[in-house]
Amino acid sequence: MSAPTRLDEVRDRLAAELGEAALVTDRAELRTYECDGLAHLRVVPALVVLAETAEEVTSAVRACAEAGVPFVARGSGTGLSGGALPHPDGVLLVTSRMRRVIRVDPANERATVEPGVTNLEITKAASPHGFYFAPDPSSQQICSIGGNVAENSGGAHCLKYGFTAQHVTGLEIVTPDGERTQIGAGDAADAPGYDLVGAFVGSEGTLGVATRITVRLLRSPEAVQTLLAAFDDTDAAGQAVASIIAAGILPAAIEMMDALAISAAEAAVRCEYPEGAGAVVIVELDGPTAEVGPTLEEVERHCRACGAFEVRRAADAAERARIWKGRKSAFAAVGRISPDYIVQDGVVPRTALSEVLTEIAELSRAEDIRVANVFHAGDGNLHPLVLFDAAVPGEQERAEAVSSRILELCLSHGGSITGEHGVGADKVGAMAKMFLPDDLDTMQLLRCAFDPAGICNPGKVFPTPRLCGEVPGTRKGAHRLQEAGLGELF
Ligand SMILES: Cc1cc2nc3c(=O)[nH]c(=O)nc-3n(C[C@H](O)[C@H](O)[C@H](O)COP(=O)(O)OP(=O)(O)OC[C@H]3O[C@@H](n4cnc5c(N)ncnc54)[C@H](O)[C@@H]3O)c2cc1C
Repeated sequence: MSAPTRLDEVRDRLAAELGEAALVTDRAELRTYECDGLAHLRVVPALVVLAETAEEVTSAVRACAEAGVPFVARGSGTGLSGGALPHPDGVLLVTSRMRRVIRVDPANERATVEPGVTNLEITKAASPHGFYFAPDPSSQQICSIGGNVAENSGGAHCLKYGFTAQHVTGLEIVTPDGERTQIGAGDAADAPGYDLVGAFVGSEGTLGVATRITVRLLRSPEAVQTLLAAFDDTDAAGQAVASIIAAGILPAAIEMMDALAISAAEAAVRCEYPEGAGAVVIVELDGPTAEVGPTLEEVERHCRACGAFEVRRAADAAERARIWKGRKSAFAAVGRISPDYIVQDGVVPRTALSEVLTEIAELSRAEDIRVANVFHAGDGNLHPLVLFDAAVPGEQERAEAVSSRILELCLSHGGSITGEHGVGADKVGAMAKMFLPDDLDTMQLLRCAFDPAGICNPGKVFPTPRLCGEVPGTRKGAHRLQEAGLGELF
């Protein structure tokens, strides 16, 4: 009989502390957790822990820390960058059973929830009090708030209200050495000291596990009006977006879809967008009734001046839902028009949108790979969907090349390699295209302050050799780590 491994130690300890029902060890069942929404990257975890409480998360993390076993947190597994991709010799710590809305506090405009609560459940809990939770990823019916925090997720309404980071006021976290602690101001307006919540939100599960999340609630607006404008092409639609923003109008959302994305949405959900549209723009305004009506008139004028051949205003909630249905289902809808596709996520300055879309179209023609564009036009967050058929020899490789070239286009226009889906495992290599080695080392300082042993979601966000257990590097940045007393760790 072979000697027990460190993972066996963790398994036996957690079976005793949490009970067998909290563990998944059967190989076939473990496969259920082998990927997130980025399905082409797959790793079967060695052990899955289904935590129900913060105490259980603490026990699991402490067991891993004491045995030196890597662990990865997972919420609903809808991430699109492989952030929740398991470690083959590690523990996958799943929070989806932690579904309690702990409190809704309208007087302080706050809610506190467990990490497995879905994004939409927060709004559902707040709406009887006249409040809602603003960040609204298209996956909001299933993605967890823990995942939103880790990814600093965005959504259509983040143009006006900001991303998840602007709405998280306090966190209870379990640090990678197994300590449970509170960070942030919670109900207060501010807290002295470093903005640790700011560091944690968007850290993609590399700084610990969030076990309780306090979020800001916004008062539900008095009026919401939604308009859909159809254009001949994305150029005209892009001009309308620029013209609306230049006029000083700040809609709650401005979204754009091109012809290919529209045809996919039609095939999937029959959203009945205007026939023959080369692009549609969805504009949503919210606020006091007296303000929203006249502003909508103004938005319509801008759209028509830029060539909109049809403008539809949603007359009621049902029409509004129908307009959004096409947009919100666009990612999945693309499966109707292509057997395989890559969801890309990049950002460009709003002013570069038109130029970048033209360059993407040229790239698509040159490589004979179709690209559908669905995006948050207001904040320049592109989601090109690169279509291919893996059964056709060479097509996947060409699609991957187009997808990575699109990111380079974003960078060359002063943008970023990700807007909201994160770096995860998918874009680790692209980090070096955006940051200098010194920049990466400086970020690593923060990671090591939380996780000196390098066991918390290792290999994500930064290239694997930059974990905290490596020998000192030869690059300039390594000196900075040594000066900070972390040289031994590198
Ligand atoms: C159809 C579709 C549409 C989408 N639309 C959007 C969109 O509009 N905007 C957007 O931003 N994203 C979107 N996404 C991506 C995804 O839904 C978000 O990134 C979401 O926040 C992930 O949540 P999750 O619970 O599924 O997290 P997971 O996929 O389980 O995990 C994501 C990351 O969070 C970490 N993590 C999870 N829970 C915790 C925790 N408690 N503590 C610490 N780290 C944790 C994981 O380790 C991992 O790194 C979409 C995805 C799909 C499939």
